[in-house]
Amino acid sequence: MADVLIVGAGPVGLALGADLRARGIDATILERRSELDAGTRAIGIHSPSLAHLELSGATDALLARAVRIRRGEARADGRMLAAIRFDRLRARHPYVAALPQADTVDVLTRLAPPVERGVRVTGFREDGSSVTVRATGPDGETERRARVVVVASGWAGRELVYRPGAVRTRHYPDRYAMVDVAVPGDATALVHLERGGVVESFPLPDGRRRLVAWAGTSDVPDAAEFLRTALAERLRLDVDTSDASTFRVRRAVAPALRRGRVLVVGDAAHEVSPIGGQGMNLGLLDALTLSPLLSEWVRGHEPDEVAAWERRRLASARHAARLAFLNTMLGRGVSTVGHGIRSASLRALLRGPGGAVFTRAYAMGFDAAARGS
Ligand SMILES: Cc1cc2nc3c(=O)[nH]c(=O)nc-3n(C[C@H](O)[C@H](O)[C@H](O)COP(=O)(O)OP(=O)(O)OC[C@H]3O[C@@H](n4cnc5c(N)ncnc54)[C@H](O)[C@@H]3O)c2cc1C
Repeated sequence: MADVLIVGAGPVGLALGADLRARGIDATILERRSELDAGTRAIGIHSPSLAHLELSGATDALLARAVRIRRGEARADGRMLAAIRFDRLRARHPYVAALPQADTVDVLTRLAPPVERGVRVTGFREDGSSVTVRATGPDGETERRARVVVVASGWAGRELVYRPGAVRTRHYPDRYAMVDVAVPGDATALVHLERGGVVESFPLPDGRRRLVAWAGTSDVPDAAEFLRTALAERLRLDVDTSDASTFRVRRAVAPALRRGRVLVVGDAAHEVSPIGGQGMNLGLLDALTLSPLLSEWVRGHEPDEVAAWERRRLASARHAARLAFLNTMLGRGVSTVGHGIRSASLRALLRGPGGAVFTRAYAMGFDAAARGS
């Protein structure tokens, strides 16, 4: 019988596996995909996540590949509204580490126990002291037992734990186009709040940047053409957008993170708008604050702190979802008058004491897991 069985080898499941391993517990990790997911999504790893990833050795390995973003700028019409100073955060890692999600997954895969790939978990049965996990894979239908199961399956595996409709999901109408591409520039994160909608430009390793543009509220038939035109009109920027893709935005926070010996972390339990870049970080902090409790649990009995962990993580997810919603609203296209009011208000807010509060919130400094990091 496994001590801990993790469903899903995304960044969150792997981070949990790596941290448990550093604590002397080799978890079993089951992943339905046969191959690594090469798709690119999360790029920013915030200061509290970097602090919690130190134990497994992931922080040094991630920082060796990442760009450290110490400063950001909010801009409109080619002028700076305010600077966002991550380097002034009171934290061990006063920056955002930016690297493609595939690199983050690669680093964590090397530190986690070997992943059993091509194995899809289909259900659980719990008795008083263990959980039986049903799965299908290369050996057909199998069953395994574990003392504790952690579901880190992303939204795709949500139905494993929650009844249909139990996780209320809001679909925003907003569409975005994005591309990771070589663009000249330094390691400053830029958020251009233009009349036609936001354009975010975040540094990546090797002279590349992630460019994201608000694309309105109806489908975008040709992402590359839309993004090329939007960048030219909003920023007078001419780049190769042939690899552009689009994404939409959802918001969901589950009512609970556990049922008996089955716990849920990451996107399986909550999804927040990527505008603000906190979804993966929320999941990492779920996993890395759960890990010491699991380690105590499998060595003896369930620690009392599991209930407090669940309360704190749900509060952090709701907070991040509200912040991401605000960022999404702020990034929409507006009228000329609305644009003037938005720019003036943001300049006043971010240049005053609100600037430090915004920076801390953006860098997840208010997450319960940020204490002491
Ligand atoms: C465009 C975009 C940009 C983003 N940028 C950022 C960012 O900068 N910063 C940030 O913090 N977040 C960002 N996010 C969000 C981030 O990508 C997600 O929050 C993160 O990937 C969630 O990780 P996870 O491990 O919980 O889930 P996933 O990455 O979805 O991984 C879950 C894994 O579980 C596997 N699985 C599913 N069901 C089963 C099953 N039944 N059995 C076995 N395996 C299963 C899946 O195959 C998958 O490999 C972004 C998202 C998007 C769309």
